Amino acid sequence: MTPLHPESIAVHAGRPAPTAKAPLNVGIELSATFHHGPDDNYYLRHETHAGIRALEQALGELEGGDALVFSSGMAATTAVIEGLLPVGSVVVTGWTQYTGSTVLLGEQERLGRLTVRSVATDDTAAVLAALDGASLLWLETPSNPMLAIVDLPVLVEAAHAAGAIVVVDSTFNTPLVLRPLDYGADIVMHSATKYLAGHSDLLMGALITRGGELGTALRARRDLTGALPGGLETYLALRGLRTLPLRMERAQSNAMELATRLSSHPAVSRVRYPGLESDPFHARASQLHAGFGAMISFDVRGGADAATRVCESVRLISHATSLGGVESLIERRAMHAMDAARDVPASLLRFSVGIEHVEDLWDDLSQALRQV
Ligand SMILES: *Cc1c(COP(=O)(O)O)cnc(C)c1O
Repeated sequence: MTPLHPESIAVHAGRPAPTAKAPLNVGIELSATFHHGPDDNYYLRHETHAGIRALEQALGELEGGDALVFSSGMAATTAVIEGLLPVGSVVVTGWTQYTGSTVLLGEQERLGRLTVRSVATDDTAAVLAALDGASLLWLETPSNPMLAIVDLPVLVEAAHAAGAIVVVDSTFNTPLVLRPLDYGADIVMHSATKYLAGHSDLLMGALITRGGELGTALRARRDLTGALPGGLETYLALRGLRTLPLRMERAQSNAMELATRLSSHPAVSRVRYPGLESDPFHARASQLHAGFGAMISFDVRGGADAATRVCESVRLISHATSLGGVESLIERRAMHAMDAARDVPASLLRFSVGIEHVEDLWDDLSQALRQV
């Protein structure tokens, strides 16, 4: 049989075997402990539950590797940063990226465990110059919230030549837009809280590897720390994953249309969206990605106050942090001190485009932009 398309994998992977009277869905298992067998020692932290195994099957097939799910994106990140790297390791990572990753790495550096070299990861030469002696290259593409896209194949090759493994936080992409393992990355990280689960109702993380020693080490770390999602979370996440391709299709087409309209709006000074031909990352995204995602960052004329007024004026769109759900969210990122300190413009709004009707979203944005 020819391999299935991701749209079909998302619907069918991780289901029970189709035997007579078997259910189509894996149920919600809620037990932390199990009766002993003759020589085994069953316990949830080590054995996981059926919902985890079903979700990992589906996510692994979508990313083209072996998936491990965690209780949050940050739990997955922690397993890599604290679980894999010996004291004294050098990590090369992005200057402007997801705050939690930056804080975790900074804390490890302050504790004397790691050396962190922060660079603009979309600047290939800057990354290459920083790789000497590094053990790990942590990339986020597109980056939060600047939506910079890295030249992944070139960076992977250079990192491997320097002896470093490559981790890609692919939360903004989903496997429908980019499969980093296909470009040679060693670990794909997701905050499954976002697009994969897609309904803003749970926390979850994932790491996908090619298995082997890396997969075993990360799994051992998860077993030890117990950073596992519960049965209700995995049930909801797998249900959400079933419609990921449909949700992404709509969210991306909405984002393309809204980015285009925003770029000629008089109250907007700049739009960052790789789907726009004028975007500095358009060529790279067109070459490497299978889509442009559904995150837009745009700058409002009139600075922080004007941008804040837009956030306070939206009615259909929610003024909230996070992203990747069915509903559209907007936020002024520089309200967070870490983003402000890392060169995020004061008037930049990060807009997670949902699956509503595009004209309703545009009406709401237009009336909010009239308030500035
Ligand atoms: C949200 C997010 C995380 C952290 O994930 P949690 O599930 O909230 O722990 C990491 N990276 C990116 C890009 C994110 O958006």
